[in-house]
Amino acid sequence: MTRLLLGTKNEGKIEEAVELLAGVEGLELLTFSDRPFSDVDETGETFLDNALLKARTICLETGLPVLAEDAGLEVEGLGGAPGVLSARFSGEPVDYARNNALLLEKLRGRSDRRARFVTVAALRLPDGQTFVCSGALRGRIGEAPAGDGGFGYDPLFLPEGSAKTLAEMSLAEKNRISHRKRALSRMRAVLLDLIRSGEL
Ligand code: IMP
Repeated sequence: MTRLLLGTKNEGKIEEAVELLAGVEGLELLTFSDRPFSDVDETGETFLDNALLKARTICLETGLPVLAEDAGLEVEGLGGAPGVLSARFSGEPVDYARNNALLLEKLRGRSDRRARFVTVAALRLPDGQTFVCSGALRGRIGEAPAGDGGFGYDPLFLPEGSAKTLAEMSLAEKNRISHRKRALSRMRAVLLDLIRSGEL
């Protein structure tokens, strides 16, 4: 069995990643509760910088292969904001309801509410090999929060062609279309290939 540590403490992300990577033969997924690690400051300027920073740092600390990701929301009419600052959009400590309230305030009266979620996933192996996959989900920002599933900006995000926000969907429904699903399905293929070839 090859062990792979998920480099996140975010319960929402852990739950989604565990479901998305379930059933990869030969792979044992470890989470923060199995192998705790230190916080990594997300000082990068892009999702890619931060995903690589987290994967590299946690791999160095634990000696395990690590899958980390950085994700966020890019709103067209706000020049791509909140982007890499999605978690701390309205300041610290991170507060999803306050972030959502600020986003609604910034978009008040605007008709262009197009947005997309982006995930960049980075896999780092102890021998230094690094693999990156990304995924996106297009949609728009609703007029008011709806639903209590998911996390973060889910109550405000209406995927293209959907009348429901991500927070009104079940986890299984969200996981069929999400940016994280797209990035992690690609990563799943990378993991399968590495396991088959004996590199992991
Ligand atoms: P990070 O990757 O932990 O830095 O995530 C940044 C922030 O982006 C999170 O705190 C959420 O506010 C937001 N975010 C990332 N992915 C999602 C998602 O799937 N749904 C809703 N919000 C998300």
